Amino acid sequence: MTHVDGNALAGMLADLFGFDSTGAIGECAGCRHRSELARAHAYVTAMGAVARCEACHGVLAVVVRTPTDMHVSLSGLARVSIARR
Ligand SMILES: [Zn+2]
Repeated sequence: MTHVDGNALAGMLADLFGFDSTGAIGECAGCRHRSELARAHAYVTAMGAVARCEACHGVLAVVVRTPTDMHVSLSGLARVSIARR
């Protein structure tokens, strides 16, 4: 399966945070690489998505959508920094 850039996660992240957060800076819990979430490698299917670190390819986030819920794991992110508006 090939990946696309993290911008493909924009809709799912907007559902989660309430705004487009692809410009947020995420820090990989595995290798401490920091970059915009838009630069993550995104693997998107009809059921959800997996975002992987562009540096070490570790899993940053997993989103699973069901007809009634959205399940999100951000366990691969040590932190997310979002600029205040
Ligand atoms: Zn990493």
